[in-house]
Amino acid sequence: MEFDAIVVGAGFSGLYMLHKLRDGVGLSVRVLEAGDGVGGTWYWNRYPGARCDSESHYYSYSFSKELEQEWEWSERYPEQPEIMRYLNHVADRFDLRRDIQFKSRVTEASYDEAANRWNIRTDSGERLTAKFFIPAVGCLSAANIPRIAGLGSFQGTWYHTGEWPHEGVDFTGKRVGLIGTGSTGIQATPVIAALAAHLTVFQRTPNYSIPARNAPLSPEFQKYVKENYAEIRRKTRESTNGHPFEIADRSALAIAPEERQALYEDAWQHGGLRFRATFKDIMVNKEANDTAADFIRSKICQIVKDPAVAAKLMPLDHPFATKRPPIDSDYFETFNRENVLLVDLRESPIEAITPAGVRTGNAEYPLDIIVFATGFDAMTGPMLRMDIRGKNGLLLKNAWAAGPRTYLGLQVAGFPNMFTVTGPGSPSVLCNMPVAIEQHVDWIADCIGYIRERGLHSIETTPEAAERWVSHVNDAANATLLPMAGSSWYLGANVPGKPRVFMPYAGGMATYRNICEAVAAKGYEGFVLR
Ligand code: NAP
Repeated sequence: MEFDAIVVGAGFSGLYMLHKLRDGVGLSVRVLEAGDGVGGTWYWNRYPGARCDSESHYYSYSFSKELEQEWEWSERYPEQPEIMRYLNHVADRFDLRRDIQFKSRVTEASYDEAANRWNIRTDSGERLTAKFFIPAVGCLSAANIPRIAGLGSFQGTWYHTGEWPHEGVDFTGKRVGLIGTGSTGIQATPVIAALAAHLTVFQRTPNYSIPARNAPLSPEFQKYVKENYAEIRRKTRESTNGHPFEIADRSALAIAPEERQALYEDAWQHGGLRFRATFKDIMVNKEANDTAADFIRSKICQIVKDPAVAAKLMPLDHPFATKRPPIDSDYFETFNRENVLLVDLRESPIEAITPAGVRTGNAEYPLDIIVFATGFDAMTGPMLRMDIRGKNGLLLKNAWAAGPRTYLGLQVAGFPNMFTVTGPGSPSVLCNMPVAIEQHVDWIADCIGYIRERGLHSIETTPEAAERWVSHVNDAANATLLPMAGSSWYLGANVPGKPRVFMPYAGGMATYRNICEAVAAKGYEGFVLR
């Protein structure tokens, strides 16, 4: 089957890409999606407590004023089922389903230079071709299941949070072990603790977390949002991280300690990711960051009643927010429950999974269920799990052997007419995702429209432009404290053997948007159009 464009994935990015290319540019488009429904990341991440950490009124599409006005969000942070309802509504409202092929996992994609076509193959052996190939596969969709000896011998059941069973998991009366204390583990812990007979949390790295303060949205707030959407969207577009609030223009070091404390307290009570925006230097000055880290550690001490447990929960090895900062609902409070045990894997690592449970160096923990909240092979994993070949059979895996190399996180040299949505080298995960996605999709659709209008054949970035961009991405990361978290997935450090390269662009979404617009205005500088 032949199409103008093939898009992989029917999440936030694939759905909007389809809408733009089909209804905007007028292309024939086919979306190939592994799941049997839309939703992407949210389709797979159905674990207990799954909820977005951006607020609902701006974790949403801005491209349709009608959609904005007709959709009603119920809570400050949307829960996974509500996001699924929203994306299903979008798929129906814009009549997207007829061009989405579900249960179709792309296994291979190769560029035929003579024909200027991408040849795509799915897991059912089906073959499709298209001029443009757009993997919109998400940044966090390839589950990272650690290779722990003995997993196959476990007599209970185990799950990865990112591949959660659709029918759910019944925790009633069960002894559950949860491995991992990133955003996912921190969200799942309180919910599982309330459902299970007993929960053991296996923690390797203690994490900072800020209370989310989730709550139902009041009718007044819902009305306010609808009346002020234009302004809210303007702010999100012009901000560093795609949020409609500003980073305060004051230094954490230039005010009296009592005043600083009061501002942190205020931000803690308000809750959410804007805690990080309390001072302008939290992400760039270690001393300023220490003030935020100290404040959060003092809160952990206050909340957790057992001082020995509180000490284990203290994040000490990385500055605040240099790993993606989680937000939570009663995470630290959960360690005051009688049925919850914290196991510090730094004291004694996991040695094996046994038929009965998890064995560390100094104890065995009998379990009925193990939950892996161990994250993802982020950003490059979803791309590299497909066999993608560019010109002369160049394998993407080889092109990225030393880490991902892209121009603007949009294109890879040697892979003409392939565009990545929120790929490595773009702000992506450092931004509220729908904001980053809409910018990418709009840019790609404009670019393809430009190519069509001029009857052009192909677009491909030059290796020089990609090299310059990779070095700029490094410089942008090094201007912040972000690389100080040595084990972060931003660096690929959570997957054994993965090259350590800081993958997202840390220069800020607004700056990035301006760069992309300037590149297009100069006739796609850094790209060769044929
Ligand atoms: P993550 O941040 O990578 O955390 C994985 C956790 O598993 C870490 O605590 C890690 O410990 C631990 N771990 C990994 N391998 C292990 C092993 N072999 N033994 C013991 N512990 C191990 O993954 P995540 O929590 O799924 O979050 C990933 C990203 O998804 C987030 O950063 C965020 O961007 C996104 N997310 C967002 C939301 C939201 O919107 N609310 C919710 C969930 C996730 P180390 O730190 O020691 O490596």
